[in-house]
Amino acid sequence: MRNTMTDDKPSSKQRVIIASNRLPLSIDKYDGNYRVTPSSGGLVTALRGLSVANYLWLGWPGIEIGETEREEVYAVLAKENAAAVYLSDEMAQNHYNGFSNEILWPILHYQSGAHMNFEAWTAYQQVNEVFADRISEEAKDGDLIWIHDYHLLLLPSMLRERLKSQNKCCPIGFFLHTPFPVDDFWRGLPVQGDLLRGVLGSDIIGFHTDEYMKNFIGACKTLIGADVMEHSVQYDNHTVRLDKYFVGIDPQKFSDALNDQAIISRTQELESLYKGKTIIIGVDRLDYTKGLPEKFLGFQVFLDEHPEWAEKIVLVQIVIPSREDVARYKDLKDEISKLAGQIIGKYVGMYTDRLATPHSTPLLYIHRSVSFEELIALYSISDVCLISSHRDGLNLVASEYVSCQEKRHGVLVLSEFTGAATFMKGGSLLINPSDTRTISHMLYKALTMENEERKANYEELRDFVNTHTSVKWTETFLNELYQLGNSN
Ligand code: UDP
Repeated sequence: MRNTMTDDKPSSKQRVIIASNRLPLSIDKYDGNYRVTPSSGGLVTALRGLSVANYLWLGWPGIEIGETEREEVYAVLAKENAAAVYLSDEMAQNHYNGFSNEILWPILHYQSGAHMNFEAWTAYQQVNEVFADRISEEAKDGDLIWIHDYHLLLLPSMLRERLKSQNKCCPIGFFLHTPFPVDDFWRGLPVQGDLLRGVLGSDIIGFHTDEYMKNFIGACKTLIGADVMEHSVQYDNHTVRLDKYFVGIDPQKFSDALNDQAIISRTQELESLYKGKTIIIGVDRLDYTKGLPEKFLGFQVFLDEHPEWAEKIVLVQIVIPSREDVARYKDLKDEISKLAGQIIGKYVGMYTDRLATPHSTPLLYIHRSVSFEELIALYSISDVCLISSHRDGLNLVASEYVSCQEKRHGVLVLSEFTGAATFMKGGSLLINPSDTRTISHMLYKALTMENEERKANYEELRDFVNTHTSVKWTETFLNELYQLGNSN
């Protein structure tokens, strides 16, 4: 592979092509013209800290764009360093919901029993081919290519072949933003071998934790007979390097926000609104991996065991709507709403007859997205952040909460099954979300923790968050990809 620079870091002129299923923006028509708006999500938040100036982001823009409109879309996206991969709505739906979300997502999160859908699998293959065509068309010799996530597992090998036939040398990096399960779950997927061979076309594969990396290496060894070492897999005369990388946040963005006058005012407003109350915050996408029913059940056990807290506490639970086209997510929404109703019904007025006051409920269940400003204000007024995922690749909310706790030194109650717990267990109270008694116990411990211990825990977490930023993640990964390109 060829790069013009010989030092160990890419220059600011080095171009990076990023590929993800969705572009980090939405596009729609307004007054007859296309316009773009930034979208939300863990990957988007992490990559916003990208320190490389010269990049092009390729992905599906979220809607079908007809041939005649592509020139206009190209121009609008070019201003945002982005370019569209064009997909029909049907193909995109079968790839994204049909295969990626309905089949791959549960298996990657250590669940069994997903039914194979070969029509959706065909769409998954086709979409990966379209990405490979589009990227190889855009890529110039020497570009670094960084592919993201489970929607594009076949892409590295497809792209490698195309680039080779075009005589272009571009190192290919891949980052998996989900867990990777143990063999037993992965082998249940009839096309698991194709997916492994697909991603092994990369030069570097990044995981959140050692556990996911080891599981992946194990699958390569036992299921497709690859030669494996601690940090590499050799298959079909090609060696791939593997490592774990912590995807941090941009702490500066949060500390700046805390000094923003509008956010200060909103924080003061909320503090006076919740005067005399202790706030527990929860922020999760509506997803069965997030353990939301267990969080509510654990909170209910806490209220049962500590009725003296019922009037002094509010769990503010933001649930971000997600994947509303998938049946399992609709069922989950109903289940959570029902549980929330039960808790509110049981505790509002149990210890007081003041039913109709904003102070009377121990649970505020908000099923919608909130603005960044509102999120920061809520994080900063909360004494506890409760995260109860069954499985979570990393969980960025944990880091975001910590970065808003400079004054309060709130306590992080964190599921041991998040990638974040691997790194942040030192300053957190860990829970197993299936154990509602432990959730109750840890909530009590968090709420009654002495200031000195809170401060020490907070400082440990803050130091970690401040030194493991999203900029560090992107720099580390891209530097390694660049060096690998130079050494080949
Ligand atoms: N978030 C959001 N909309 C909201 C509230 C929060 O997009 O209304 C963000 C939140 O700030 C965080 C991300 O959603 O950056 C959730 O990331 P996480 O890693 O916790 O979970 P994921 O959704 O990626 O599974």
